Amino acid sequence: MVIYISNDEMEKCKKIVVVGSTNVDLIARVSHLPEPGETIGDAEYCLSYGGKGANQAIAAARSGGHVSFISCLGDDAYADTLITSFVDSGIDVDYIQKCVRHSTGIAFIFVAENGENCIAVAPGANNLLRGERMDTILPVIKEADALVLQLEIPYESVISLIEYAHTVDTKIILNPAPAKQIPSYILEKVDILILNETEAMLIAGQSLDFSEPIGIARSLLRRVGQVVILTLGEKGSVIVSDEMEKQIPSYVVNTVDTTGAGDTFCGAFVAQWVEGVDLQDCVQFATAAAALSVTRIGAQVSIPYQKEVIEFMR
Ligand code: ATP
Repeated sequence: MVIYISNDEMEKCKKIVVVGSTNVDLIARVSHLPEPGETIGDAEYCLSYGGKGANQAIAAARSGGHVSFISCLGDDAYADTLITSFVDSGIDVDYIQKCVRHSTGIAFIFVAENGENCIAVAPGANNLLRGERMDTILPVIKEADALVLQLEIPYESVISLIEYAHTVDTKIILNPAPAKQIPSYILEKVDILILNETEAMLIAGQSLDFSEPIGIARSLLRRVGQVVILTLGEKGSVIVSDEMEKQIPSYVVNTVDTTGAGDTFCGAFVAQWVEGVDLQDCVQFATAAAALSVTRIGAQVSIPYQKEVIEFMR
C-alpha cells in the first residue's frame, strides 16, 4: 500500500532518518544441522528480507512516519528488489547507495527440525557505510527531526553519527542491537535508548535481575539523555524518563514467529514520538504493532501498517 501526500503536507511532516543495515536471509530448513563435510540433499529453501535498519525503517514508514532510509546495498540482483520493497512501504530511498563490485548483506541460516539453528552473516555492503560515504549523508541528518540507529553497520560510523546529530540538535534514538557496550560519553548524547534484556546487561556491564525492570531502566537513565525503554519480550516493556516510570504489558496474542518484534516496536514507536505524541501512548502503539507482528511469520512481511494497528487497539 502506498500513501500519496501533497507537497504541502510533506513540508509539515516530521522527518525520520534511519541509518542501518539491509540483509537478505537465505534460509535452509533441514532435518538436522549438517556435520563438517556433510551434505544434506533435501533442504527446503526460503528467502526473506531483513537487517535491523531496513526492518525499523519499514516499521516507521508503515506506521505513518516520513522516513528516509540510508543503507548500502550491493550491485547484485537483490538490490533492485529491496529498493522496490522499500518504496512500496512508503520509504524515501534517495540516499540508498548501490556499491559497485560488492554484494548486499547476506545471512545464511540453517534451521533444523528441532529448532536449532546456525547462521553465517556476510555483511557485504553494510560494512561500506563509513568514511566518505558518511559525509554525503550529514546534510540529511541535519535536516531530520529524528535519527534512528542500530549496531549492524560499522561501530565507528554509529559513534560519529551520534556525535554529529547531537551537535546539530537532531534527536537520537538508539537501539544498541546486536548487543555491544557503548561508552558513557556517547550514551549521554542519545535521547532515547530502546533495548532488550541482553542489550541492557551488556550496557550495564553486569548480570541483572529482571524481576525489577523499572529499577534497571532507572539506573540506565542516569547515563542516557531523556528516555529509556526496556523491552521484555512477551512480558511487555518499561518506560523511564525524568517525568514518568511505567510498565506496559504486552498484548496476549497467538504468537507464531517473534522475528523482528523488537524492530517493529522501535520503528512504530519513533513514527509516533516524532509527531509529539505522549510517550506512554507511543509505547502503547509500538506494543500493539509488535504484537501484531508476532502473529505472522517472517520479519518484514509481518510488520503491520498504521491502520491495522489502530484497528487492533480498538
Ligand atoms: P527480536 O530480537 O525478536 O526482534 P527483541 O528481543 O529486540 O526482539 P523483545 O523484547 O523480544 O525485543 O520484543 C519487543 C516487544 O515486542 C515487546 O516489548 C512486546 O511489546 C512485543 N512482543 C515480543 N514478543 C511478544 C509476544 N510473544 N507476544 C506479544 N508481544 C510480544
